[in-house]
Amino acid sequence: MIRHAKIEFNESGTPVAQDFDDVYFSNDNGLLESDYVFFQQNNIAARWQNHPRRHFVIAETGFGTGLNFLNTWQRFNQDDDKSVEQLHFISFEKFPLEQTALQQALLAWPELTELSEQLIAKYPVAMAGCHRLEFEQGRVILDLWFGDIQDTLPQLCYSESGIVDAWYLDGFAPSKNPDMWQQSLFDGMANLGRENCTFATFTAAGFVRRGLSDAGFTTKKVKGYGRKREMVVGTLDTANHNTTQPAYYKREPQQLTKVAIIGGGIASATLAYSFSKRGITTEVFCKDDTFAQGASHNHQGAVYPNLQADFNSSSEFFAHSFYYAKRLYQQVHHEGHHYPHDWCGVLLHGVTDSKVEIQTRLAQKGNWPTSLIRGVNTDEANKISGIESNYSGLFIEPAGWVNPPALVHALFAASQSKTKHKVHFNSEVCDIVETHTGYQLHDENQNSLGEFSHVIITCGELTARFSQMQALPFKPVRGQVTRVAANNLSQQLNTVLCHKGYFTPQLDNTHCMGATFEKNTLCRKISEEDNHINLNQLTSFYPEQLGITADSMLDAKAAIRCTTPDHQPIVGEAVCEETLINNFAPLRKGQQYDFGDTENPYHSIYVFSGLGARGLCTAPLAAEMLVAELCDEPLPVPTHISEMLHPNRFIIRDLKRNKR
Ligand code: SAM
Repeated sequence: MIRHAKIEFNESGTPVAQDFDDVYFSNDNGLLESDYVFFQQNNIAARWQNHPRRHFVIAETGFGTGLNFLNTWQRFNQDDDKSVEQLHFISFEKFPLEQTALQQALLAWPELTELSEQLIAKYPVAMAGCHRLEFEQGRVILDLWFGDIQDTLPQLCYSESGIVDAWYLDGFAPSKNPDMWQQSLFDGMANLGRENCTFATFTAAGFVRRGLSDAGFTTKKVKGYGRKREMVVGTLDTANHNTTQPAYYKREPQQLTKVAIIGGGIASATLAYSFSKRGITTEVFCKDDTFAQGASHNHQGAVYPNLQADFNSSSEFFAHSFYYAKRLYQQVHHEGHHYPHDWCGVLLHGVTDSKVEIQTRLAQKGNWPTSLIRGVNTDEANKISGIESNYSGLFIEPAGWVNPPALVHALFAASQSKTKHKVHFNSEVCDIVETHTGYQLHDENQNSLGEFSHVIITCGELTARFSQMQALPFKPVRGQVTRVAANNLSQQLNTVLCHKGYFTPQLDNTHCMGATFEKNTLCRKISEEDNHINLNQLTSFYPEQLGITADSMLDAKAAIRCTTPDHQPIVGEAVCEETLINNFAPLRKGQQYDFGDTENPYHSIYVFSGLGARGLCTAPLAAEMLVAELCDEPLPVPTHISEMLHPNRFIIRDLKRNKR
């Protein structure tokens, strides 16, 4: 659990950390000092002129009030000569300021108000892990890693070539915060550094300079800011070839010449949006005459994270996905692409003894911010929902529902307003055939639909049709959602209700009541029996409270969800089973590295599928991760989550257990 900073303001109005007995920035014009020490001494303005990549990555130890970030962002906006198109700022923070404290601290810099207001508006909850915040339509990315940097820095995914161009080695004075200024931090900085990565730090402490030299930086002392005599800067001449990616979970950047996305649902839409932010166009192939005709077709879908009591990888992914998704959906709405929705909260009712037990454990363990999820007794639950019941529960206040088809359209429209994707409707891709120069997409008559350097398959349950997907254990699960007419009682409902299924507050005088789970069928025909399954389930928990009866039923939608054995999406390069097993056979005997030549024959076909019933929550962050991977950018998730979503995981797990 992350704890907020304890701060006070001294007589100059400068914030002071009680935990460290030190100021966040100098009493004597902290903004100019930030600019001199970090921005100028890393020589950033000059490096933005002719940087070899479209993005420039700065990493910082200690986000504090965000002053260094805001100054760099302002510099980025003011620079008309730069070749760099995207500023990527990574910052680590153990004790984040509360939002109100941040607001108060930043009042000191009226010249930054326009930017600081945007930061304050998006400032995340105190929850461990990586919060990816985007500004300026994605041209400025802030990855805020909450947690002790000794724990979080090693969680970043990086390859042998590194990811960071410049380090701001900030933090309270080494004497006030000795736990942070450790050799492990200096080594970590070098591990993440790219060739010619620089650092700058305000301190001239000898052990810091020696530690950074030992880590591989060439260091030197330069004039400090104002009255300060010295500070230290340095350069990493070559990346040190360290990586957090085992060969079998590699994610590799690509030269994206011509990209095809197959599919037209939430996965495809979020992917198109992530590409658009980077100015990359794609061609989208949708087999239907419009978007969102598969599992994204319901009238209302709840958007909320699936959290467990423990802060495990799955829950961490859900929680961060949820906040990321909500920020994206709000952004798209803000850009003028509207869709029906309501952030009215989701109430998880404890409808059985075992659910009450699980929910009580979650609330008691306290691993999650209560602003995200909190235990509520029966009275509170009834007050929140507007419906009388005998259930206590968990309330996810920031959650809600959206109209998925309208959202998918809005996402595509927002993407199109940035870069024009070519969308082919009624265009069913049946086969992907390798050529000398790429991959050709074929329709059912083996006619070519075009040739592409990269293909991303986001086809829900139809993903499994492609020969390149055969090693992936997708499991189709049919779901039917029934739409019912609202009545005087049901209209009182203020939140989404989750019992074993779910029931949404009214939209256009109707509610969604769902959903069935049926394995081993691909049938999408509406079944009367399934409507009654939904009704019986609802009325078994709310016999009269909602006034829903068989007469309320209007219509239904059925689709096949694409699920996976471990209930996590599959996101990344497609896998050839035979090659993978051959390459990594030594895993059976416990060998972890030195696998020799490990080339995958499908290196330009990607999969983004297996989102199950949770795509509205998980698709945006997973899409962003995939696009970041392809574009050689820092990933918005830690290594353990990147591996949890990796297509190779099923076979690798089996090899490690000697099951293949
Ligand atoms: N760069 C900041 C700014 O622009 O406002 C000021 C940074 S302040 C001097 C130092 C920050 O480092 C504090 O916010 C503190 O909580 C954070 N910090 C201290 N030890 C840390 C650690 N071990 N891991 C991550 N953050 C840490």
